[in-house]
Amino acid sequence: MFDSLNERLSGLFDRLSGRGVLSEKDVDEALREVRVALLEADVALPVVRKFMDKARELATGEAIIKAVKPADQVVKIVYDGLIDMLGGEEPEPLNLAAVPPVVILMAGLQGSGKTTTSAKLALRLSKFDRKKVMMASLDTRRPAAMEQLKLLGDQVGVEVLPIVAGQSAVEITRRALQSAKLQGFDVLILDTAGRTTLDETLMNEAAEIAKISSPTETFLVADSLTGQDAVRTAEAFHARLPLTGLILTRADGDARGGAMLSMRATTGLPIKFLGAGEKIEALDVFDAKRIAGRILG
Ligand code: GDP
Repeated sequence: MFDSLNERLSGLFDRLSGRGVLSEKDVDEALREVRVALLEADVALPVVRKFMDKARELATGEAIIKAVKPADQVVKIVYDGLIDMLGGEEPEPLNLAAVPPVVILMAGLQGSGKTTTSAKLALRLSKFDRKKVMMASLDTRRPAAMEQLKLLGDQVGVEVLPIVAGQSAVEITRRALQSAKLQGFDVLILDTAGRTTLDETLMNEAAEIAKISSPTETFLVADSLTGQDAVRTAEAFHARLPLTGLILTRADGDARGGAMLSMRATTGLPIKFLGAGEKIEALDVFDAKRIAGRILG
């Protein structure tokens, strides 16, 4: 994760700390280098601009130049800027505040990792939070996706709503809600249909399901490897479906991190989890401090 950014910034900080006293010009140059590093990491331009404005504001004046360890001050400015970009120090908790069965709605493009992530979340809730969890697939056009959720459910030991051929997504949602209620489930995870491209029908269907099921969390699952496309996907979904948060998958293979660093500032939505591998346990709570720490090495 963040290989290029980490390499560039640690190189810069090493050089600065070797210098001792810094002039205003040195600080300017250092910030310019930070800007290039962020752009190389594929961070969205408006997000980089905002970061730079704040960093310049903090770096002007005498604070850095007069500091005992000026290089540390530059690191702190970058660290604080990254935390701000990522949504603040404290992880945003999963919202389960509703009368059970609490509904979590999963939306996203096909191939983003939505179904795997549904099962990862189900495992997490059942294993760590001791919740009784049910999952249901609403992908009526892709029987293979329904089967996949069933297999994953068996793997993690979580109930999956039995598949009934010929039902619409709305009908399945109603059946899932009723079944989860009658059987005393705490959480119902609804895995909506995926498509390979953004399409109106898909997003409208997800919006309709949200209306019927009143989820406490409506997540967009997006592939961090797709960079700024992931950001555009999140914006497009959010325009039609009131999302409450984001889950970024394949963070384990993401050398640049542009999607992760741009998502919060661009969409205003918190990233709540990161997919960190193909294994079913590989789901991490999103923690800005950990991410910023990794970037700064
Ligand atoms: P869906 O079409 O959006 O439901 O996507 P799937 O859940 O079927 O996932 C597509 C592929 O991505 C599968 O091979 C998953 O194992 C893989 N995958 C999902 N999340 C992650 C992740 O966080 N890291 C890695 N490396 N692979 C993932």
